Amino acid sequence: MNSQYVVAKFGGTSVADFEAMSRCAHIVRDNPNVRVVVVSACAGVTNHLVTLTQQKEDEAGRKAVVAAVENIQQAIIDQVSLDADLAEGYKQTFSEFENLASLPALSRQQCDEMLSFGERFSSYLFTQILRNNQVQASRFDVRKVLKTDNQFGKANPNVAATREAAQTNLVALLGDTVQVTQGFIGSDQYGQTTTLGRGGSDYSAALLAEAIDASSVHIWTDVVGIFSTDPRLCVKARPIPRLSFDEAAEMATFGAKVLHPATILPASRKGISVFVGSSRDPQAGGTWIEKEKTAQAGIRAVTQRKNQILLTLKSPEMLLASGFLARIFTILSNYNISVDLVTTSEISVALTLDNAPNASRPELEQACLDELGEFCHVTVENNLTLVAMIGSEIQLKKCQLNLMDVLSEFNIRLICHGASKHNLCFLVEQQESDQVVQSIHAKLLEVA
Ligand code: ADP
Ligand code: ASP
Ligand code: MG
Repeated sequence: MNSQYVVAKFGGTSVADFEAMSRCAHIVRDNPNVRVVVVSACAGVTNHLVTLTQQKEDEAGRKAVVAAVENIQQAIIDQVSLDADLAEGYKQTFSEFENLASLPALSRQQCDEMLSFGERFSSYLFTQILRNNQVQASRFDVRKVLKTDNQFGKANPNVAATREAAQTNLVALLGDTVQVTQGFIGSDQYGQTTTLGRGGSDYSAALLAEAIDASSVHIWTDVVGIFSTDPRLCVKARPIPRLSFDEAAEMATFGAKVLHPATILPASRKGISVFVGSSRDPQAGGTWIEKEKTAQAGIRAVTQRKNQILLTLKSPEMLLASGFLARIFTILSNYNISVDLVTTSEISVALTLDNAPNASRPELEQACLDELGEFCHVTVENNLTLVAMIGSEIQLKKCQLNLMDVLSEFNIRLICHGASKHNLCFLVEQQESDQVVQSIHAKLLEVA
């Protein structure tokens, strides 16, 4: 049975500076059920750390990045006085960071160690700001409980081990003290630091909520909920008050950056409700994501994911033979590659992969292409965007508008529909995609 505990997660912009952290501290203070707080790195810090993992900077360049990271944190420390326990821990962690940043080359494990510092730093600062707001708070190292495999850069959680560790090491601490911990990071079976992939703090919050049997996860960000499309792109985008787990999962998967794609998984496994709201305006409400199905059928949102790779694999020898797809997907799985869209014909298959510019790990490695190239002809296309219409019961005939009419004005490179009742997805040229999303939003989601 789920407890009354709430896990609250604050994203990068919500903990960007002293004022932003103070607003979040008020949210925690005002809800006594919040017992676990998951923080992201202060805005901008993880991007700096990614630069260090790319190992393109010389010594002076690395020092400049270290200074930039230090400045972001120092601006906050200047406004709070760290208690001795936090000051000591912060100092030690910062010197570990400096040591690692002085190395000219890093292993994959060391890259994850490097990426972990943002959340390790911000959690010291946020703990202090909670204490300054009369909340009894301690900092908790999430690596003691969030257990993963060792796919550095995009590690997969071990749900059973995480639960066991959280029940043993974390639950007993929740009685009278708020535990402030780190999003995005975990540790493998040897205790080595791992990361869950960019934007992974939402996922961490949901995994911890599952592990401690929380009643809900509150994701505090810079928008007042999940919108009908990215509000930065369409001024007429509207927040959606309620979404089913399925709809929210599809939105996150297909590009609503507001939630990490895997966040809904742990929540739906355990029926834990997820709230998304703005830490700048906590009274403004937000989106509740819950188990029950939303009543109305139809399109509720349109999302986009830029920087997609389209991989087309063709093998004439496979005509009427079996095992082609199995062979391809085994190789992709060996490289821990996650595929989004797939279309097939008898001798060829086209699939899409993510290629985000600031990813903590390149999605497609040359070694993988070489292995695929041993038995098929491989074509790689870039600069594409995956656009998705999301909703419920999106069978073409059931919509008021004929979706094919809506799509007819765009140059579509690939289309996928039918595997899920919740989406219709297609690929367009990246330079056209903002316009495509705006046009679909205007036609399908701005009707009076
Ligand atoms: P955080 O740092 O809090 O994790 P993110 O930047 O990862 O925040 O996610 C919030 C951003 O997601 C918003 O500023 C918004 O521009 C973007 N976004 C994209 N699609 C949507 C959507 N459908 N609804 C709300 N926000 C969206
Ligand atoms: N700090 C990490 C990132 O920027 C994780 C997160 O914020 O969710 O990707
Ligand atoms: Mg995020």
